[in-house]
Amino acid sequence: ASDEMRYFQTARQFPDVFAPRDADSHKGSHGTLAVIGGAAGMSGAVILAATAAMYLGCGKTWAGFCQTQLPFAVIPERPEIMLATAAQLLQRNDISAYAAGCGLGLDDDARAVLHSVLQRAAGKPLLLDADALTLLAATPELRAAAQAHGRLVLTPHPAEAARLLGIETAAVQADRVSATQSISRTFRAVTVLKGRNTLVADPDGTRYTNISGNPGLATAGSGDVLSGIIGSLMAQGIPPAQAACAGVWLHGAAADLLRDNGIGETGMLAGELAPAARWLRNRMI
Ligand code: AMP
Ligand code: MG
Repeated sequence: ASDEMRYFQTARQFPDVFAPRDADSHKGSHGTLAVIGGAAGMSGAVILAATAAMYLGCGKTWAGFCQTQLPFAVIPERPEIMLATAAQLLQRNDISAYAAGCGLGLDDDARAVLHSVLQRAAGKPLLLDADALTLLAATPELRAAAQAHGRLVLTPHPAEAARLLGIETAAVQADRVSATQSISRTFRAVTVLKGRNTLVADPDGTRYTNISGNPGLATAGSGDVLSGIIGSLMAQGIPPAQAACAGVWLHGAAADLLRDNGIGETGMLAGELAPAARWLRNRMI
């Protein structure tokens, strides 16, 4: 019963996320997300994020791979997703929101792609995760471009947060609230500090502490799914801070739903989270 109460409060807290669809809507009404990352050997990260984006209701999702050839071995998994190289995808003008970094890699190609993403995503909501955060931490020009963006969401785990701040991971964990707020101020971004009790901070000082989720989430690809969920909500026109808070909650609540309904925590797969998040969201609409 206490869980029901929390769910109910969450639905009231993020009304835009749990609003029913307009009866006259078409796929163009629900936004187009571009997911960019997936260097050789890491294609699955982009597929996981793009799949999650579709389950969370964005109209169309592009997967942009940081490879010269498309990775056909992973393509049949989700035929709904549109596929391109990162370079091709960055030519398009019909993208509503961007999510970059999952499996992007850390080489010069990855850095160049991230530079282009920051330019192309000017004026559009942009989520940066994983390798994009590591590159950002290490590259002054990218830092400056990120700070100037204005509609940025950063989703570091504690080690990525430590790189962004130039401190040790233990120092991040010793004061997670300060670390989150400090990244928010420094990068003028909504910041999601992941881990148990994920924190979300807005540069204006607003804070949110998530209570959903369990250690089943400590598995490969879990963060990629979160990026896809938040990116999807932003593509649908949900403001970045609300997309981040509601997305973090849905991601954790999906894991709780799986834990409590026959899957358990051990061996939970990242790919199982998005269908569970869809079910929850639709229950709450
Ligand atoms: P990443 O490290 O990028 O793969 O992201 C892992 C995701 O799983 C984040 O959303 C974390 O908040 C979540 N997560 C990892 N471990 C736990 C845990 N022990 N309890 C709750 N959430 C977790
Ligand atoms: Mg990650």
